[in-house]
Amino acid sequence: MVDIKKIIRNNILSLQPYSSARDEYEGKEGVFLDANENPYGIYNRYPDPYQRKLKKAVAILKNTPEEHIFLGNGSDEIIDLSFRIFCNPGKDTALSFSPTYGMYEVSSAINDVIFLKVPLDKNFQIDFEKTKPYLKSEQLKLIFICSPNNPTSNSMNTDTVIRILDEFQGVVIIDEAYIDFSERLSFMQLLERYNNLIVMQTFSKAWGMAGVRLGMAFTSPEIIHYFNKVKPPYNISKVNQEAILEKITNTDRFRKEVEIILSERQRMQNELQNIAFVRRIFPSDANFLLAEVTDADKIYNELVAKQIIIRNRSGQVHNCIRITIGTPEENNLLLDTLKEMS
Ligand SMILES: *Cc1c(COP(=O)(O)O)cnc(C)c1O
Repeated sequence: MVDIKKIIRNNILSLQPYSSARDEYEGKEGVFLDANENPYGIYNRYPDPYQRKLKKAVAILKNTPEEHIFLGNGSDEIIDLSFRIFCNPGKDTALSFSPTYGMYEVSSAINDVIFLKVPLDKNFQIDFEKTKPYLKSEQLKLIFICSPNNPTSNSMNTDTVIRILDEFQGVVIIDEAYIDFSERLSFMQLLERYNNLIVMQTFSKAWGMAGVRLGMAFTSPEIIHYFNKVKPPYNISKVNQEAILEKITNTDRFRKEVEIILSERQRMQNELQNIAFVRRIFPSDANFLLAEVTDADKIYNELVAKQIIIRNRSGQVHNCIRITIGTPEENNLLLDTLKEMS
């Protein structure tokens, strides 16, 4: 067990959090003359600051107790809060494994935290021997592990993640934005063993709710206490809470969509391999494919000219493009266009 108090910034430990009207009186019945709201309208009232109804539904969906759930205005908010809770600006460090999701480094820079990058090995796996020397540093507060990883699309080996958790006394954040597209078990299974583990998931990808902005963090009640202390009081709007509640009552549709995306991923994998300028497609646990091509810049530009937008990732992985799996029609259009180009 990690002594969480020891790794919280002092100003956060001693912080007297904002006490909202809805904090001081939690009841639902009554005449509410406490929050300076307009008495008329449907969205006139402030939302539940702790999203209790939504958390109950997420708890059932994820088979985890409500006390282990924090909800953020997208995963982005959870990442930013983590920096603000654990990292002293200008002094502490955070670490991730490159190439990976760019937001960790940006959020680190915004918070004036030194960002360390350990390169993934040639199979895009974490190199434990290269990571080990960093684990004893007292300044290192956060380690980000993206699994399945964006943009490489593979999952990280469980054994290596466990070795890091066993040796590190800071916080490990595992970003599982793409877990619903993977057959692997979620790292949530490790939450009981490690009180310094945060598993992040999101409604932005498989759930098709990117426009709504809702990220989930599963972690120990101790860490959730500090998230609640630091977050803006009403960080999830009432509109957003209702939209997600409505969405997760229909898991059939979710399952069907994921099934189609997975079968399309397989089909795209097969078909792309037959295109002359495609050198290789990396195995994917996500809803996108990373493809090494002969000339990524050229292919990217030619596709853009035809209003087909993919991601040029050659800055991260040499000559690689990242292709999101779309509808069968969109995928066919991409395939036909690439075949014409080759
Ligand atoms: C898309 C993505 C997210 C989602 O972020 P939200 O703020 O929840 O939309 C998180 N992590 C990774 C690695 C992603 O690719």
